[in-house]
Amino acid sequence: MTKYIFVTGGVLSSLGKGITAASVGTLLKHSGKKVGMLKIDPYINVDSGTMSPLEHGEVFVTTDGAETDLDIGNYERFLDTSFLKSSNFTTGQVYSSVIERERAGGYLGQTIQVVPHIVGEIVNRIKLAGKDHDILIVELGGTVGDIEGLPFMEAIRQMKHDDDVVGTFFIHVTLIPYIKAAGELKSKPTQHSVQELRRIGITPQMIIARSENALPKTFKKKLAMSCDVNSDSVIEALDAKTIYDVPMSFLRQNILDPIAKDLKLGEITPDMEEWDILVKKIVSPKNKVIVGFVGKYLELKEAYKSLTESLIHSGAHLDTQVEINWVDSEELEERGAEALLSDCDSVLVAGGFGNRGIEGKIKAIEYARINKVPYLGICLGMQLTLVEYARNVLDLEGANSIEFDKETPHPMVYLIDNFLDQSGDTQIRTHKSPMGGTMRLGEYPCDTKKDSILREAYNGAKTIHERHRHRYEANPTYRKQLEDAGMVVTGESHGLIETVEITDHPWFLGVQFHPEFTSRLQTPSPSILAFVKASLNAE
Ligand code: GLN
Repeated sequence: MTKYIFVTGGVLSSLGKGITAASVGTLLKHSGKKVGMLKIDPYINVDSGTMSPLEHGEVFVTTDGAETDLDIGNYERFLDTSFLKSSNFTTGQVYSSVIERERAGGYLGQTIQVVPHIVGEIVNRIKLAGKDHDILIVELGGTVGDIEGLPFMEAIRQMKHDDDVVGTFFIHVTLIPYIKAAGELKSKPTQHSVQELRRIGITPQMIIARSENALPKTFKKKLAMSCDVNSDSVIEALDAKTIYDVPMSFLRQNILDPIAKDLKLGEITPDMEEWDILVKKIVSPKNKVIVGFVGKYLELKEAYKSLTESLIHSGAHLDTQVEINWVDSEELEERGAEALLSDCDSVLVAGGFGNRGIEGKIKAIEYARINKVPYLGICLGMQLTLVEYARNVLDLEGANSIEFDKETPHPMVYLIDNFLDQSGDTQIRTHKSPMGGTMRLGEYPCDTKKDSILREAYNGAKTIHERHRHRYEANPTYRKQLEDAGMVVTGESHGLIETVEITDHPWFLGVQFHPEFTSRLQTPSPSILAFVKASLNAE
């Protein structure tokens, strides 16, 4: 029988609800519990696949190919677990399935309403995600008081009284502002937010208070009293040096005591020793490297969340601070690679879509290739290595990816019209396929070549598994030409070219997959780890 912890947010957004939920989950997991995580997004989009990374941050891809909110990435990185499609749903999905059922005559003439039908569908989806777990942590996106959030609030309220549910615990994450002029911490916004929750019928049992300043004991007591929670259930969340310290900080405040008591979990003591060592290495590392990170969504770094986190994970395991030197690919196009990359120990070209900044990325690749600087190209960063090599080594003028030049005489990267998806079914993709449904998504196997950088990075594994999110593929027509000239294919997936390396280079790897999606604090991505190691050696 699953127990549920619901995490809601008050006062304003961006308080770190996702990290809070993941941190509580981590502590429970390290106490031996089977923990599931669920993020509910109240927006109408069916998934985040078509949302701009500049507006919404990264689109995270799960093993089973769902395009989800970036919080699922946080859950995976903290809990060292692969979550599936069922770990994230949106208002769009809820309404779609109810309307679909209505069209199919599934409601036998009833009038379909938010209560009970939409709310019922939400409850069912939460229970489905909770199946086979001791505890499911449910994070509700948005802030209390949002119109879109109401059906979800009603659903979690109803679950308190559900016969199949043996325990519920409500955590409310809020902000305690500090008014400098008065030198005072203010509890009023939190009180209002809790009042709003109670109006809906939810009484939080724990307040997690984000604050710039430590909360004095007397303030915590007052807050507990005014929010109607026990005095051991006000937990402060100060700005942390690293997000991975948040579970440790919660643990120091004995966060599990009130949760375990209420949910009747018995004695629980998490084993966080290994985690704590990694956090200490992040906070005070021995070494440092500078990675030149070439991208185009630099206005919102959240667009590269998994990748920047994966560098931190590898850094922690190598006792190294990985400093990122952000390089805007359009600026690089104008000012040249030397000017922007010469201080860097290595170069990383991340994934992306669309024309903007392409030529700058190609210049960065040329710079890394010629100067023998360690290079990792991910997805688009791999596709462009082929274009660069074709233009500058094979002398194939006008070589490009057909994503950027439909008329290119040398389509190094092209669109195959069908491929086998994860379940072995043929997927058709053409230029006319609707956006959002035609990408190669999720985990696929990749066979590695003997004596390659790739195989060495994965400790000799002959087959590895990594996640994908792309439409275009390396064109095998040029494979022989490339290989004869020193760019070799070192990874293949069902006949598709997955990775390339340059033989006459100390460390140059282009990967079609996204290694960053599987990197966790405790188990860093092998490709990223090898890349950071190579960057360290290059110093
Ligand atoms: N735009 C490229 C494609 O669709 C690369 C995608 C990516 O980098 N994620 O194939």
